[in-house]
Amino acid sequence: MQKRPSRPRPCTYCPAPGADACVRTQGDGETHIYAHQACAQAKGVDTLYVFTDEQPAGGSS
Ligand SMILES: [Zn+2]
Repeated sequence: MQKRPSRPRPCTYCPAPGADACVRTQGDGETHIYAHQACAQAKGVDTLYVFTDEQPAGGSS
């Protein structure tokens, strides 16, 4: 099982860390802007992708 470095991702819509989705890219697509899925939803922004490396809440493994 591979482990990826888990760096804190800032949310572009609120000051809290731990953004779990990408909402857009900047420049030539190399800079990804992150946000919480809830924040993106509140803004009516579509997420490009979400991170699945977080521990699921109440996951059934
Ligand atoms: Zn947020």
